[in-house]
Amino acid sequence: MTKRVWNFSAGPAAMPEPVLQRAQAELLDWNGSGMSVMEMSHRGSHFMSILAKAEADLRALLAIPPNYRVLFLQGGALAQNAAVPLNLLPAGGVADYVDTGHWAQKSIAEAHKYGRVNIAASSADAEYTYVPPQSAWQLSTDASYVHITTNETIGGVEYFWIPDTGAIPLVADASSHILSRPVDVARFGIIYAGAQKNIGPAGLTVVIVRDDLAGRARRECPSVFDYAVQAKADSMFNTPATFAIYLAGLTFEWLLAQGGLAAIERVNVAKAQALYAAIDRTGFYRNPVRPQDRSRMSVPFFLRDPKLDAAFLEGAKARGLVQLKGHRAVGGMRASLYNAMPLAGVVALTDWMQEFEATHG
Ligand code: PMP
Repeated sequence: MTKRVWNFSAGPAAMPEPVLQRAQAELLDWNGSGMSVMEMSHRGSHFMSILAKAEADLRALLAIPPNYRVLFLQGGALAQNAAVPLNLLPAGGVADYVDTGHWAQKSIAEAHKYGRVNIAASSADAEYTYVPPQSAWQLSTDASYVHITTNETIGGVEYFWIPDTGAIPLVADASSHILSRPVDVARFGIIYAGAQKNIGPAGLTVVIVRDDLAGRARRECPSVFDYAVQAKADSMFNTPATFAIYLAGLTFEWLLAQGGLAAIERVNVAKAQALYAAIDRTGFYRNPVRPQDRSRMSVPFFLRDPKLDAAFLEGAKARGLVQLKGHRAVGGMRASLYNAMPLAGVVALTDWMQEFEATHG
């Protein structure tokens, strides 16, 4: 057995160990086929059954209504930042965006290429440490959609409520907290997520799109990103990321075996509470996010004295606590607590935080 660590990476991130073990056991021979999933035709019956099960399990986990299509695409969340306007924004149209930080700004910058963007709200006034309440939003009356980033992976800010945009479709980049808790999919027009945090390996992008929003794509929209084209082709207009879809499917099975999203949410709440309590205990560590908007998945924290950062990280590594260095844009530390991170990993981290503080505080 290889030595495993507590991996706090923001993504590509830790996968559930039983998923990796199962993939290992099935690597050379999937289900008596004599082939690895990597070697199968995407249109053959073996892979078609893998894809169908992955979709059915994802639908079960999120209780996705029947009038939504599930697409398994490529290009990451950043490709969706272009695909969303290319599918929904007519030439000359306007789209509303809520600016909550780094990843919202990436979405906004991409949308600017395709049409008018209205920044309906921003938390720039407090360095992106909160989610602007809907009472402060200035929505356009004629927007083609409203875009939000439901978990800011760098800023550590998460929406715990769903905006009401009336008849205007709500589009969410949920990359870094999808499947961390139940969500009412029917409140959204589109939910998209790169897989490499809470779903599976990098290279796969999941798009959940309401039927009526597929079929409006602009002429110049690449066919691989046209929701109607991909929906009609069961995500096989081009060769899909077959092995990544298989691993995502194993992760969905693992989640269902844990008791589904309500059960994993309870674990995620306990993990987040334990870590924020350790951060808030004294003034030695600090997290700047407004308490009610603190992300359960992405927890940035800072040492009072940044000169101690290197020693903190080195000691953490010696204890098997890895990939804790904060994003280069903000420094400090960041612990990502995706579904695959058990409470024991968080306890190991908080133990180290207390020990470090005792010697350096
Ligand atoms: N949106 C969010 C919220 C993210 O966290 C990330 C990746 N960290 C991205 C978009 C970009 O995803 P990708 O690299 O898969 O395009």
